[in-house]
Amino acid sequence: MSLSDISPENPETGCRTSRREMIGAMAALAAAPALGLAAEPAMAAAASPEMLTPDQALKEIMDGNARFVAGAPTAHTKDLAIIKARAAEGQWPIVGVLSCADSRVPVEMVFDEPIGRLFVTRVAGNITTPEIIASLEYGIAVLGIKAVVVMGHSNCGAVKAAIENPEVPGQISALFPAILPAVYMSSSSDPMVVTRQNAVIQAATLINSSPVVEGKVRAGELKVVPAVYDVATGKVEMLPIPPAMRVGK
Ligand SMILES: [Zn+2]
Repeated sequence: MSLSDISPENPETGCRTSRREMIGAMAALAAAPALGLAAEPAMAAAASPEMLTPDQALKEIMDGNARFVAGAPTAHTKDLAIIKARAAEGQWPIVGVLSCADSRVPVEMVFDEPIGRLFVTRVAGNITTPEIIASLEYGIAVLGIKAVVVMGHSNCGAVKAAIENPEVPGQISALFPAILPAVYMSSSSDPMVVTRQNAVIQAATLINSSPVVEGKVRAGELKVVPAVYDVATGKVEMLPIPPAMRVGK
């Protein structure tokens, strides 16, 4: 079975709702506000990833981050309406995110995106493990996401621990080897410097470890972007991609 044989539809319901039907449901919802919920026409118009370029998908989430930082988010007003519009029958996210597990990084809130819009994978240190790569490959090859943001954050405990290499209980130290390249390649041991380097390295690892990801990037159908989130301000900063990890268009 190839990846393309895996349906994004809900295996429990067996529902075969098409993208067109889902968009139609969204449009109907937008046209007739239900239960006083303010469903915006833009929600229907932006319902499908295939309607967006990678740059448009990234602009949507950064516009959302600006609303979040400004204290004017809107996504939470749409969540219940999206559930009622048969969200359980399929998913059509536009952007994948690899973030740290830190409780101060609520990804959907940070980008002011409602249910179904982001395909989020999380692990301490936002490292690209085989399981994370496999999950993102599903988002890319099956669900059609247009961009992946690999997002570190300020005050990251996993990064600080990898720098300091203390005695830790259980299997926590299993995280360190994946972060150590960023420690070694950084110009200083400042945790924020290492965090930025780590986001870049994990993004490069995602591209270089996966023919699925690299092929889409080369074709100009996907962007992989390192980023950092400031837990003090709520602001996301997308990082420049070094020449060595630039592939494709
Ligand atoms: Zn962290």
